[in-house]
Amino acid sequence: MKLVEKIKGNVFIVLLLIGYLILTLIKPELGMASIKSSGYFIKEMLMIMPVIFILTALLDLWVPKEKIMELLGKEAKAKGIFLSFLVGSISAGPVYAAFPMCAMLRKKGASVGNCVIILSSWAVIKIPMLVNEAKFLGPSFMALRWVLTVISILLFSGIMEKVMKEEDFPEISLDRGLIVNRDACMGCSICAKAYPQLFYMMNKKAYVRLEDGLQLDHEKLETVLKTCPVNAISYGMD
Ligand code: SF4
Repeated sequence: MKLVEKIKGNVFIVLLLIGYLILTLIKPELGMASIKSSGYFIKEMLMIMPVIFILTALLDLWVPKEKIMELLGKEAKAKGIFLSFLVGSISAGPVYAAFPMCAMLRKKGASVGNCVIILSSWAVIKIPMLVNEAKFLGPSFMALRWVLTVISILLFSGIMEKVMKEEDFPEISLDRGLIVNRDACMGCSICAKAYPQLFYMMNKKAYVRLEDGLQLDHEKLETVLKTCPVNAISYGMD
C-alpha cells in the first residue's frame, strides 16, 4: 500500500526510470549516455539546491507575508511587474533554483503572473546573459530580443494568471511539510471538520491553510492522519 502511494506521488520519476530502462535495453549506448548526462545535472543540483533552500527559508522567515503581498501580490500591479522583472533579471544560477523561491513567494501572496515573470526573466533575460549576448551578437540584436521577450513574458503571465486556479497547485506547505494528495482525496471533509484551523474544503477536495504563525496541534494532526479514509494526507518526509 505504501509502495503504491509512493509510486502515485512520484509518477514522473517512475516514468522517467522506466524510460531509461527501456532505452538502455533497446540502445545500451544511448541509455548509458542519458543516465550519465542526468547524473551530471543531479550532481549540479545537489550542489546548488541546499544553498537555495537555506536562502529561501531565510527569506520566508524574515520577509513578512504582508510585504510580499504588497510588493508582488495582485494588487501591486505595475510595481509588482517591475519588481518581478528586476528579481528575475539580477538573479544568478540555473532557473530550477527559482522554483522553490517562487513556491515560497506564492505561498506568501505573490501573484501567479508575477511568479511567471520572475521565472521567465530568470531563464531568458538575466543581465549576465544580456551582456554576453550583446558581445557576441551585437547590442541591437540583444535589445530587440529583450523587448520582444519582455512583451511575450507579459503576455504569458497574463494568460497564466487567468488560467491557473488555486487547486491547480500542489498542496505543499514548505514550513509544515504537510501534503494532501488531492488525486486520492475523496472529499469526505473529515479533516476539515476535525481540524478546521489547518484544513479547509474547496471543490470537494481538502486543502491546507497556508497562514503564517499557525502552531501545529500535533495530537489533532495525528488524529486526522489516522482517520483520513484514503490516507491522502502525509506529514514529514515519509
Ligand atoms: S479526510 Fe482525507 S479524504 Fe477526507 S477530505 Fe480530508 S484528505 Fe480528503
